[in-house]
Amino acid sequence: MTGNVFDIVASRFPANADAPFIELESGRRYSYRDLRDISGRYARLLADLGVVKGDRVAVQVEKSAEAVFLYLACLRAGAAYLPLNTAYTRAEVGYFLTDAAPRVFVCTPSSAGTLADTAADAGVGTLLTLDSHGEGTLPDRAAGLDPAFDTVACGPDDLAAILYTSGTTGRSKGAMMSHRNLSSNAATLHRLWGFRPDDVLLHVLPIFHTHGLFVATNCVLMNGGSMLFLPKFDPDAVFRLLPRATVMMGVPTFYTRLLSDQRLTRAVTAHMRLFISGSAPLLADTHREFQARTGQAILERYGMTETGMLTSNPLEGDRIPGTVGFPLPDVSVRVADEKTGRPVADGEVGVLEVKGPNVFSGYWRMAEKTAQEFRADGFFITGDIGRIDARGYVHIIGRAKDLVISGGFNVYPKEVETVIDAIDGVVESAVIGVPHRDFGEAVVAVVLRRPDADGVDEAAVIRACKEQLANFKVPKAVVFADELPRNAMGKVQKNLLRDANKDLFDKRAA
Ligand code: AMP
Repeated sequence: MTGNVFDIVASRFPANADAPFIELESGRRYSYRDLRDISGRYARLLADLGVVKGDRVAVQVEKSAEAVFLYLACLRAGAAYLPLNTAYTRAEVGYFLTDAAPRVFVCTPSSAGTLADTAADAGVGTLLTLDSHGEGTLPDRAAGLDPAFDTVACGPDDLAAILYTSGTTGRSKGAMMSHRNLSSNAATLHRLWGFRPDDVLLHVLPIFHTHGLFVATNCVLMNGGSMLFLPKFDPDAVFRLLPRATVMMGVPTFYTRLLSDQRLTRAVTAHMRLFISGSAPLLADTHREFQARTGQAILERYGMTETGMLTSNPLEGDRIPGTVGFPLPDVSVRVADEKTGRPVADGEVGVLEVKGPNVFSGYWRMAEKTAQEFRADGFFITGDIGRIDARGYVHIIGRAKDLVISGGFNVYPKEVETVIDAIDGVVESAVIGVPHRDFGEAVVAVVLRRPDADGVDEAAVIRACKEQLANFKVPKAVVFADELPRNAMGKVQKNLLRDANKDLFDKRAA
């Protein structure tokens, strides 16, 4: 599959240009004709503003149909689309603009006042605006332009997008995604997940991240199908729309929130063909409870910004709770010793390394960092610790950087979390390493318990761990919390937990 991603998906658009592409909650619809015309006008405007192949277009806007058309316009103009999380502050945006040096920056009208100087300081040529209703200077200036735009020819290795990693440690890095990266992954997922012409995707994810943009939106584009497009995950709207949808993609927190709602029943999900989860681990309990309530087995898959999707539980066959399934057909996944890079024995734990047409070419202007994260034979070191079981299912144990080294022994947080989560009355837990005078780092468990779980105290958690785990893995302290800090993609932010508890042992000693 070669060429501009836009041409590849456009070859699969429905013959009837009036067929729906996006439907908003208000009932407003955008057809495939709208997709072509609006993205064509936006591409024309970008070209008129001097955007040429390889230029970056940075975008920090709320979710809207027009934001999707802007993404497509960038592809058509041969530019690299650079979406930014709407939560980023002015200082963070300043870093991204300076680092990526985009020719155009599109932001919300309400932030244009504060970001104008930041953009100018970073040398951005043009600042445009777009709001959540699809209004702003971008659509205004594009309004009178010719919608016919000849999509710029691109080779498979040409840059299609730059996605900055969420980077909880060090500087955020811009992962360079090529046209091949995006189109190969979208084509594989579209086939593997059995998309049908009449599938309707319920889109509730943000579109500044791989999951909502390259997985959800690109699958719909590959399908020439339609999506019900919500600004965010809102249970009321989800329950209203589920009977009209066939596929939903979500992060695990969406599923736990649906489960905590009485409206989640077999009947309300009867029209659904597929629930998909990713971006963070789905608790096996959540998977089982969801299946018991609805009869639907959530399909869990695994991927990351730099690589797109890597593994998936099967469409046909066993979707095993707590696993992320098999490597995708065109992706090689191996497990290696983190330090030596040598393959570990079958079934053993190590760092996951991957190779395939979906794997990015490197970090923007960080050649050295890029070189450190690839092996000599081209495998990318994901930084995720995992293992592959006898049936070929991949299990994720956690991030290498979350590994706790206590008294010289390696502790994988997931192993301890699994024991704690199984305690009656525990909702979930996060195990972290906290500085400790004797051990270097000590294992600490942050635990959420049910309000009625009277018996679950520090001693009970430690007792349960002692029964099942070697002593060095047993938490030295247990902290109870009302919730775990999560980012927009539902990932537990262990760095925040580590910061909040860094003086824990000094305080306890005092
Ligand atoms: P991001 O680049 O923000 O998409 O984050 C990618 C990381 O999320 C991966 O490297 C994993 O650590 C984690 N991740 C994604 N999907 C899963 C999953 N299904 N189970 C466990 N971790 C996941």
